[in-house]
Amino acid sequence: MTTPAQQSPRPKRTQIVLEVIERIQLSPRMVRIVAGGAGMAEVENNGFTDAYTKMLFAHPDTDVTPPYDLEALREKLGPELMPSRRTYSIRRFDLDNGQLWIDFVAHGTEGIAGPWAGSAKPGDAVVLGGIGGGYRPDETADWHLLAGDDAALPAIASALEAMPANANGVALIEVDGPADHLELSAPEGITVEWLHRDGQEAGTTTLLADAVRATEWREGRVQVFAHGERGAMKALRPYFTEERGLERAQLSLSAYWAHGRKEDTFQAEKREPIGQI
Ligand SMILES: Cc1cc2nc3c(=O)[nH]c(=O)nc-3n(C[C@H](O)[C@H](O)[C@H](O)COP(=O)(O)OP(=O)(O)OC[C@H]3O[C@@H](n4cnc5c(N)ncnc54)[C@H](O)[C@@H]3O)c2cc1C
Repeated sequence: MTTPAQQSPRPKRTQIVLEVIERIQLSPRMVRIVAGGAGMAEVENNGFTDAYTKMLFAHPDTDVTPPYDLEALREKLGPELMPSRRTYSIRRFDLDNGQLWIDFVAHGTEGIAGPWAGSAKPGDAVVLGGIGGGYRPDETADWHLLAGDDAALPAIASALEAMPANANGVALIEVDGPADHLELSAPEGITVEWLHRDGQEAGTTTLLADAVRATEWREGRVQVFAHGERGAMKALRPYFTEERGLERAQLSLSAYWAHGRKEDTFQAEKREPIGQI
């Protein structure tokens, strides 16, 4: 039997505390936060183009300061006052200049992270709870298919930038309209198609799934990166796995957010069999 003294303590999730250096409005629905500061010494580029971080946002009714001792706070604060976690892609690790870029969809006044980015000021804390990732363009793939909405646009932009000049394929990106197009640096052989919701609410259309199905399926080994709203991803998974017979290693697909659900609810559902795509 192990005594408490013998048990190794549960490793604490390390938090990296940065600060806002600059906020840049990239388009009507996208805000870039350039973060930096002393905490950058702890940031490592993990090499994935979909590198992401679980950010922590303090509740505005508390005066907690980062890094947050979540265990201690749990004993002191009610669950509704605990810092909230939200997941964001690292748009760029600019380690030479001591900066990290994170692009936020400005999806309105609901939620925590989106509204926070809309009004963040230089000096505000940016708290990262570890950095993960799982995808990088495979240089041996015959072609690439990337599909996503605004939330996946930062990861898609990073993937396109990392591709070799001779890469080819298609990137389908769903946004509201032409004003939301961003300048992307992509190989010549990648066709970038912007899909427009034209005022329809994000997460309520079949635009992305329809466009993927309508895309000509090419010869050879494809690598797919498809991320976005849950309903669209749910519609796409059987297309790739069953209809196109892709192997696991060829497919990076997950829901980045869910219409009508805040991230905590949606991530908790993902852990239940019923919530899995
Ligand atoms: C691995 C990963 C990487 C991600 N990368 C990015 C990224 O780089 N940039 C980014 O903006 N998002 C990204 N997301 C999605 C982001 O985590 C969610 O959109 C998150 O819900 C935003 O939190 P919030 O506090 O703003 O809204 P929440 O409190 O979670 O939700 C409040 C309401 O807003 C709605 N909502 C949430 N997100 C959107 C959206 N994008 N469009 C329209 N309505 C929305 C919800 O349905 C809910 O009704 C990523 C998610 C994952 C899992």
